[in-house]
This record gives sequence, structure tokens and C-alpha cells, in this order.
Amino acid sequence: MRLEGKRALITGASQGIGRATALALAREGADVAINYYPDSDGVHRSNAEAVVEEVKSLGSQALVIGADVAQEEPSAAMVAQAIEEFGCLDILVNNAGILRDATLRNLSREHWDEVLDVNLGSMFNCSKPAAIHMRERATGSIVNVASVIGLMGNIGQTNYAAAKAGAIGFTKSLARELAHYGVRVNAVAPGFMDTDMTRTIDPAFKEQIRQQIPLGHFGVPDDIAAAIVFLVSDEARYITGEVLSVNGGWYM
Ligand code: NAP
Repeated sequence: MRLEGKRALITGASQGIGRATALALAREGADVAINYYPDSDGVHRSNAEAVVEEVKSLGSQALVIGADVAQEEPSAAMVAQAIEEFGCLDILVNNAGILRDATLRNLSREHWDEVLDVNLGSMFNCSKPAAIHMRERATGSIVNVASVIGLMGNIGQTNYAAAKAGAIGFTKSLARELAHYGVRVNAVAPGFMDTDMTRTIDPAFKEQIRQQIPLGHFGVPDDIAAAIVFLVSDEARYITGEVLSVNGGWYM
């Protein structure tokens, strides 16, 4: 197993790409802290608890931590809790993300801020305390989940594209800051993946996109999880500041 003895924290891990990543890391022997957005009706918590049980069934330790990663203090408390309960943190996957699509003329300032805060602000909020800890230990790996949209742009997604392009700049800058301390920082840029995030998109529009993808189909969460496992593993020990596209050739 490639990640035996490693401790990981994944934001937004109650479903989709985050959940698949939690299970993929656990299959490689890592213990995993599962973050979810703390909702009032408890649905997200119960989803996250189900992922915890799946991780444990693979023989790894698991924690569930509710925190809104768009907010600095709860994010810092979450990182501190993972370090406290696991003893250390080797891997951070900044995965949490949302869409609030609208063309710029219809986009509210509120939805601009919300998308920037969740998709990009979360990377500051979680990476800062994690990076300080990793730097002190002179080991660690951070993966930021960006998007093909951050590379190519898209109608109706100025907010999301700005956040994901920001994530790429953030990744490269932090990689330069931390390389000297033995800490690597990379990004994955998923293409069009079959998750809750894309399920409500108009089927005719989805078909148009599918036809633009050279491999001929959408990706699944496990495709991204496999790329993240590689980036945090020792096989990628000479890779930092990289953006790994996983998009079926949609954008190259
Ligand atoms: P998803 O199924 O909607 O999952 C998003 C996750 O983010 C959920 O677990 C959600 O947690 C969490 N989240 C949202 N706001 C949060 C907050 N404020 N605090 C904590 N957690 C929060 O979508 P997905 O497709 O797996 O997306 C995962 C990542 O991949 C995102 O960054 C997304 O932008 C990126 N991505 C996806 C695609 C795609 O085609 N699906 C393509 C490119 C990039 P709760 O469930 O607890 O609310």
C-alpha cells in the first residue's frame, strides 16, 4: 500500500470526488478525516458518517469534522482537530466546491463572493494552518481541486472560472514557498465529471459537451481520486507546482 501510515484531511468529502478520494486514500492505507458542510437538517453529516464507516471498513481510521471551509476560524479549528486526533497531518486535499452559474449581467455580487469564498477562500483557510504544520515536520503534500474551467473559461461561469484559475496560481505560488521545506503542492483539473454538481445540467447541453470530449464520455469521481492518490504518493516525489488535467482530452 502506497500511503501506509499517512494521515489525510479532505474537504467536502461527504459525496462525489471528495468521497471517492477518501476511499482511494484509505485503500492505500491512509487514515482520513472527512469534512462536510455543517447543515441544520443533518443530511450532510449523515452522508459524511456513511463515508467514515466505508473508510473504517477498509481498515483505516476515520474522523468526521463539520466545518464551513469558506470561513477561516472553523477551517483552522478543523485542521487543528485532525492534527490533534491523528497526531499529525501528511495530506490535505482542498476539494470542497460549489457552482452558482449565471452570465455576468445576471450574476449577483453575493454569488460572486460565495463561489470565490468556497472554492478559493477555502484553500487559504485550510492550507495555511496545514502548511505551517507540514513545514515544521518537513514533509507533506497538498492537492487543490481546480477545474478545466479555470484553464479554458466558460459562459456563465466567470465566478467559478476565476476561483479555479486562482486555485492554480495559488498552487504554483505555495509550491514555490514550501518546496524548500520538503512539502509538495499540486492541483488536479477535472473535466466534466458525473457527480451531483453536474447532474442538473440540461441533457441536451451535456450531450453537446460530450461530443467535444475525445475519449467520448464523462469522467467519474474515481478518475480524479486516482490522480490525487498518485500526486500525494511517493511516486510523485519530484512533482510540485503541477496541474494534472483529468478531462478525457476535452482541453489539452
Ligand atoms: P459535489 O458532489 O457537489 O461535492 C462538493 C462537495 O463540496 C460536497 O461534499 C460539499 O459538502 C462540499 N462543500 C460545498 N461547500 C462547502 C463548504 N462551505 N464547506 C465544506 N464543504 C463544502 O461536487 P464534486 O463534483 O464532487 O466536486 C468536488 C470538487 O471538484 C469541487 O471543487 C468542484 O469544483 C470540482 N470539480 C468538479 C467537476 C465536475 O464536473 N463535477 C469538474 C471540475 C472540478 P456537503 O455535501 O456537506 O455540502
